[in-house]
Amino acid sequence: MAVPTLGNPQNTIEILKKYNFTFQKKYGQNFLIDIHVLDKIIRAAEITKDDFVLEIGPGIGTMTQYLAQAAGKVAAVEIDKALIPILEDTLSEYDNVMVINEDVLKLDIPKLVNEENGGKPVKVVANLPYYITTPIIMGLFEKHVPMESITVMVQKEVADRMQVGPGTKDYGALSLAVQYYAEPYIVANVPPNCFMPRPKVGSAVIRLTSHEKPPVQVEDERLMFRIIRASFNQRRKTLANGLNNAADLNIPKEVIVESIKELGKGPSVRGEALTLEEFAKLSNRIDEKLKGEML
Ligand code: SAM
Repeated sequence: MAVPTLGNPQNTIEILKKYNFTFQKKYGQNFLIDIHVLDKIIRAAEITKDDFVLEIGPGIGTMTQYLAQAAGKVAAVEIDKALIPILEDTLSEYDNVMVINEDVLKLDIPKLVNEENGGKPVKVVANLPYYITTPIIMGLFEKHVPMESITVMVQKEVADRMQVGPGTKDYGALSLAVQYYAEPYIVANVPPNCFMPRPKVGSAVIRLTSHEKPPVQVEDERLMFRIIRASFNQRRKTLANGLNNAADLNIPKEVIVESIKELGKGPSVRGEALTLEEFAKLSNRIDEKLKGEML
């Protein structure tokens, strides 16, 4: 099997020059140039030859080379067509990689996993484009892509938001969604000098290991996430007012007030004080009352 040639500044610069490549800011292009960080990501993802890996945004193929070495098969989705001839070159020695020139947000990933891995769970590994971190991760979860884990480089602040609990300023809809679907673990903090060009913010590698089943029981997942979003949309308002003002929820005020009371919370409680379990209970109460009203 071929040995990775990328992952250091000299070889990266050489490839960029050879193809006269110009970085596209709009695509969040910050390429990894540090072998130690690449090793850490591959180790944290626990990839074996039995694995099918989905890589989002391969860039010039730096991490893809490492993934191809460790995994059975790799599908790498890249939006920038200027990178496709470069990937053909840097990945020419690997026969277990397929490059897909697509916007990952538009790609039917469940279909890809079905066709390429017989619907068996995949491992997602990526140095994500930061401008769309949340829609990518939420999309993977909400579309119920069969996944064992997601191991990704994200902005440090976003990694923190994913793993905190109630009572902290970073706690929000992203924390609750991630923790409903997975167990987050911050693998490493990564400074800007490990990338070319250097990003303005610090980064972190986070591993999200999918739960076999969600840690709380929810009757209507979509309702719970609409409630969560509404309670964090208006952070300075009480939970009751936040839910009452949410145009898309349309829950009668008395149902909201009663359900919060039954949760054992006072009328001035804010959404940011509730745990995932409490949001699940609140959603189940509201769901029950709304269904009761319809009868
Ligand atoms: N994996 C490479 C590395 O670590 O050096 C590049 C990572 S760079 C942070 C993000 C990559 O995602 C870029 O190659 C960028 O062109 C690609 N990208 C940005 N938006 C995308 C999208 N919507 N769909 C697929 N790829 C995208």
